[in-house]
Amino acid sequence: MKLDINSYNTDAPITWCPGCGNFNIHIALKQALVELKKIPSEVMMSFDIGCNGNGGDKIDGFRVKGLHGRAIPFAVGAHIANRNMTVIADIGDGGCLHEGIDHLIHGIRSNYNITVLIHNNQNFALTTGQITSTTQRGKRMYGFPNGKTEDDINIGELVLSLNPTFYAKGYSGDPQGLVDIIKEGIKHKGFSVIEIMQICPTYNPESNMAFFNEKIKKIEKCTDINKARRYVLDKERIYTGVIYQNKKRREYYSLLKNRKNRKSELVDEVKGYNISNILSKLE
Ligand code: SF4
Repeated sequence: MKLDINSYNTDAPITWCPGCGNFNIHIALKQALVELKKIPSEVMMSFDIGCNGNGGDKIDGFRVKGLHGRAIPFAVGAHIANRNMTVIADIGDGGCLHEGIDHLIHGIRSNYNITVLIHNNQNFALTTGQITSTTQRGKRMYGFPNGKTEDDINIGELVLSLNPTFYAKGYSGDPQGLVDIIKEGIKHKGFSVIEIMQICPTYNPESNMAFFNEKIKKIEKCTDINKARRYVLDKERIYTGVIYQNKKRREYYSLLKNRKNRKSELVDEVKGYNISNILSKLE
């Protein structure tokens, strides 16, 4: 069967608003998988609650949608169970930096070999536009008529403070750029964090194409952590591309002594055990 972007399409109805950045992000994800010659049965994706999570039925492959903020642990579990799968966690800035911020931090520290796409539209859009950690301080949002009082989190600054092995930044208005960095993230052996500045015309109309087109500057892949820090702290520009990659740190599974030289996968090994007694006690 010919593998192309249609291989990943489903019949699920479109639920996103016109002009939503999720359209391009989904197309870019599908295109990246096709260019890497991954068929849907080789891909496992975990989706979060949120507008991005509503894309979970719009792309083929093994998919799971869990509790808010928990897309990363689902992905980690799937990867540990079967390293033959390409595993991607798809999550919004709300779920990732509020309910699930611990999973992001420990995922980076542990360096599991998965890819995390953070759709950063700077609000909880599915619940009609409340503030998140990435909403700019002072911005007025639904439920916050006087403006946000807290400081915001700079995702790049947070990630780079945790000795990461891969951090890239893309923009939903640049689908080709997204294809490139998603491919790089999937190929990377370790925990790949890809922050995507996502347009949300419904609840964050100020961060529109004109805003991004004026600020964005594409860079070549960077392997210098100090340079990467300067990129993410720049107040005038938004740098896109692979902001930082470190290929020297080994990924989690390869460091497990009890799995050394084991060629089999846990998902197959477990079939050799009869756990019906344990399960019957749970009934
Ligand atoms: Fe997209 Fe925003 Fe509409 Fe959600 S509310 S579907 S993020 S435009």
